[in-house]
Amino acid sequence: MKVKYTKAELNRFKKMILSKMEQVSREVSDIQTGINNSDSAKSGVSPDSIYSVHMADAGTDSHEREKNYLFMTRENSYYQNLEAALERITDGSFGICKICGELIGEERMMEVPNTTKHVDCKEREKLGLV
Ligand SMILES: [Zn+2]
Repeated sequence: MKVKYTKAELNRFKKMILSKMEQVSREVSDIQTGINNSDSAKSGVSPDSIYSVHMADAGTDSHEREKNYLFMTRENSYYQNLEAALERITDGSFGICKICGELIGEERMMEVPNTTKHVDCKEREKLGLV
């Protein structure tokens, strides 16, 4: 039984992780641009219209912001997970289950590159059986 991914396989994972990271950072910068734009739009409002604009938009605005920040927080932690996966490729622990020490399937690693455990092992850990 295979105990480690080959160099070629690891390179394929690496490429996939890097492209995911690129996608995440693009999404985050899109959101950031959106936030900055809405800030500058508001500061350009003439004094007469500030009151009505503010009252009408206050609710949806803060809701939008909250949604954006939640999204960014999630994306940031996802990004950090991808970074951690890259580190594991470098140090050679990528794809090796922390619980049983055996290789985690390629399909699962492609789906969740930052995973360090088999689904079954994770379950057993949760139940306190490990
Ligand atoms: Zn395992």
